[in-house]
Amino acid sequence: MPKQYPITTYGMDILRKKTKPVTKIDPDFIILIQDMFYTMEKASGVGIAAPQINVDKAVAVVDISMLDDYKDFKPLTLINPEIISSSGSSVEEEGCLSIPEVKGEVERPDKIKLKYNDFDLNEIITELKGFPARVVQHEIDHLNGILFIDHLPKEKLKEIKKELNLIRKGKIETDYDLHIHSKNSVKL
Ligand SMILES: [Zn+2]
Repeated sequence: MPKQYPITTYGMDILRKKTKPVTKIDPDFIILIQDMFYTMEKASGVGIAAPQINVDKAVAVVDISMLDDYKDFKPLTLINPEIISSSGSSVEEEGCLSIPEVKGEVERPDKIKLKYNDFDLNEIITELKGFPARVVQHEIDHLNGILFIDHLPKEKLKEIKKELNLIRKGKIETDYDLHIHSKNSVKL
């Protein structure tokens, strides 16, 4: 049975660090990936990055196949992903499991060329556009310590400052487990 991890929340250092590359695929890593998919599903997310379950590794998973328009889109396991090039631009509302309840319109390139490793650590190069490209960019940001709120204009940041402070203090409730940044609940 896969394990459901609590989600790390805004204010925790792990969400602000560049992750370490994955250099070895062993049984523990495979279990980690299964747990990431499970945790994402339980939290009703479309993507999750390792720092969001308090793991310092450059890996993220994406699954948007529950959305009508993307039924045939195969779930992605992005090991050591990098964006090689991008073009166009689009603005869509984003949220983040680590920043519950906060939403904001984020401008990102609409098309990306992406490089990542498969489970044999072979290099895969692929192109994505539209919503899948947005989700992947959001997750790769996580692996570099960047959050979607970093892309918001200053005025919008002012608006959500209060909510961010509440999350930082752990004063937030969600229907999925959170890893709250407080003395009592942080398990390192
Ligand atoms: Zn996120």
